Amino acid sequence: MSEVSRQQRRREIRERIKKGHQLLGQGLPLQPRASEIVAVAQVVRAKLEEAGNARRAGEAAEIAQSLAERSLAARPATKQQIACKRGCSYCCYSFVAITPPEAFRLAAAVRSGEAGGMSVDAVRERARPLIGVSPKDRIGGKLACPLLVDGACSVYRFRPLVCRQATSLDVAVCLDEFEGRNLNARIPISGVHMQHAGSAHITLLGAMRAVGFSTDALEFGAALDAALSEPDAEARWLQGEDVFGQVPRQVTREIQLEHAITHVASALAA
Ligand code: SF4
Repeated sequence: MSEVSRQQRRREIRERIKKGHQLLGQGLPLQPRASEIVAVAQVVRAKLEEAGNARRAGEAAEIAQSLAERSLAARPATKQQIACKRGCSYCCYSFVAITPPEAFRLAAAVRSGEAGGMSVDAVRERARPLIGVSPKDRIGGKLACPLLVDGACSVYRFRPLVCRQATSLDVAVCLDEFEGRNLNARIPISGVHMQHAGSAHITLLGAMRAVGFSTDALEFGAALDAALSEPDAEARWLQGEDVFGQVPRQVTREIQLEHAITHVASALAA
């Protein structure tokens, strides 16, 4: 690449980052343009590459999760349609898959006492029953998320993007899944929550892939346990160590989502 091209490339990245920060402040529209997703992903990528910052993975997850929150606040769903309310936690008994940065953000919250004051050992103990249980066996298995306390999420501010997507329109279907009934029924999900958290997810996964990290989705309990296993787990993962080696993972995902991640990663690499 010539010096002129390099300068132009640096200028493009600076402009994208500026636009990305603007979008983080105002949230994304319900149907964002590809360039808007790429602009925020550029900010996430810059965070993932921040030199000397051993907490940058968790902080990258924070950027994506804040984007989902901001987008939802700016363009909310119609409240009457949403079945979820405090004290209703059927979805916290389902299989949840997360990214490593989200696991590290949760681990940091646990270590700083922001998971209802539970200790690292207490959370790891609560995660143990989930480890190795397949998504199919979670249905009707009534195994709670280790961070569910007294029927409420103890880390609501830090919860993963899939939890932000899982906003039900019909509690009866959630109850069926909790009880292991009607296994073919699909829980109707709020399109607005799905879209906002989904766009934020793509910014995180696209940036991760552009930097060279695996974008496999990790089983929540085992991933959280691994992130909490050693104080320097995040730093080691950032250096390329496979600290989630034993964690069950989902390597395939919907084609549309896979295309979106690939598009963002290529745009960031171009
Ligand atoms: S992180 Fe919170 S919202 Fe997500 S499954 Fe666990 S308790 Fe439920």
